[in-house]
Amino acid sequence: MSIGVAILGSTGSIGCSTLQVLARQRERFRVVALTAHSNAELLERQAAEWKPAYLGLVNGGKRGSGPGARGSGASCLVEAATHPDVRIVVNGIVGAAGLEATLAALSAGKRVALANKETLVMAGELVTRAAREGGGEIVPVDSEHSAVLQCTAGRGRAELARLILTASGGPFRTWPPERIAAATVAEALRHPTWKMGRKITVDSATLVNKALEVIEAHFLFGLEYDAVDVVVHPQSVVHAFVEFVDGSVLAQVGFPTMELPILYALTYPARVPDAGTRRFDPVAAGSLTFEAVAPETYPAYRLGRAAATSGGTAPTAFNAANEVAVRLFLEGAIPFGRIAATIARVLETGRPGAADTLEAVLAADAGARRLAREAACS
Ligand code: NDP
Ligand code: MG
Repeated sequence: MSIGVAILGSTGSIGCSTLQVLARQRERFRVVALTAHSNAELLERQAAEWKPAYLGLVNGGKRGSGPGARGSGASCLVEAATHPDVRIVVNGIVGAAGLEATLAALSAGKRVALANKETLVMAGELVTRAAREGGGEIVPVDSEHSAVLQCTAGRGRAELARLILTASGGPFRTWPPERIAAATVAEALRHPTWKMGRKITVDSATLVNKALEVIEAHFLFGLEYDAVDVVVHPQSVVHAFVEFVDGSVLAQVGFPTMELPILYALTYPARVPDAGTRRFDPVAAGSLTFEAVAPETYPAYRLGRAAATSGGTAPTAFNAANEVAVRLFLEGAIPFGRIAATIARVLETGRPGAADTLEAVLAADAGARRLAREAACS
């Protein structure tokens, strides 16, 4: 019997890559539920091909036709994530909107193949607790965390010494800070190695993405922040290094594609044959280089690390401020340099509290969004 999969955010970059993977794995998996925010046209095309039992369009007033149940509004995400025929929920939603569905799926004992890193950053304690108490399981889709999971398979936490996550450095790696501060939207969206949604592409240019990933790694693998390092690696071939207590280091490598980490999150801990992605070739990969993160190039990265070590709702505020600032930047309302400045103002102004209840997290998220809107436009 095939395994039922829900894809939240099926019309996005992760969602579409997941369907590409599933198209090659039809005996193992079947699509039970698909959701999107507003791209009704693509969602309908996906539904026509995959015939899911449940289709959700958050921003969908009028319902389309076709077999299967249909839902709209934010509640459709939870309905899809907790559908009784679903065993694995691929969460490919961007931003805080994915939180409730992740919590509901984990509480219902499902595996969440998590791309939606923002929710682990804003509510890491709650998400990991929901998994523990509900019997669900979080398996990372993010390529660096998938790499760590692959390198640590079969090893205990006590054998781990340190993680080194790699970062491409984004499009502004070699630019002087003044030029970066004035970068245009088109320049920020020109990622050198990965083709992704707009928000994460901007996060890669600010390196906020890597700060989010450091926090994600802390909650997924239980390491303290000083044991999670980052190195800039422009070729994006080594996805992460894992150092063990004896000093030995393993790395996971491959040409950049999200299809491999998505497949692994679906089949983990097993590996299954798949001929869909380009096989690795060290000669074609060529020279691999590594450099330290330059603080003046990526001011927002340092802010994210500081919020991480503050703990409590500081990561919640960091994530919320960044979501607001990135949206304003993409709308052309603020310059690129204002993203880090906005995050800094929010973190200076707000006081972090405990992040152990949903109410506290949602209040911190809302408060930081309010502050960010004021700070960005003042
Ligand atoms: P995209 O913007 O390409 O896709 C986002 C998806 O989420 C779309 O299906 C969109 O629907 C849906 N969505 C957007 N807002 C909402 C909302 N408020 N409620 C419900 N659904 C919503 O993003 P990506 O696929 O690039 O990224 C998704 C997540 O995965 C992010 O957290 C990102 O950080 C993470 N990630 C992505 C990687 C990548 O390669 N793309 C790599 C590693 C992590 P619609 O199309 O209708 O707007
Ligand atoms: Mg990543």
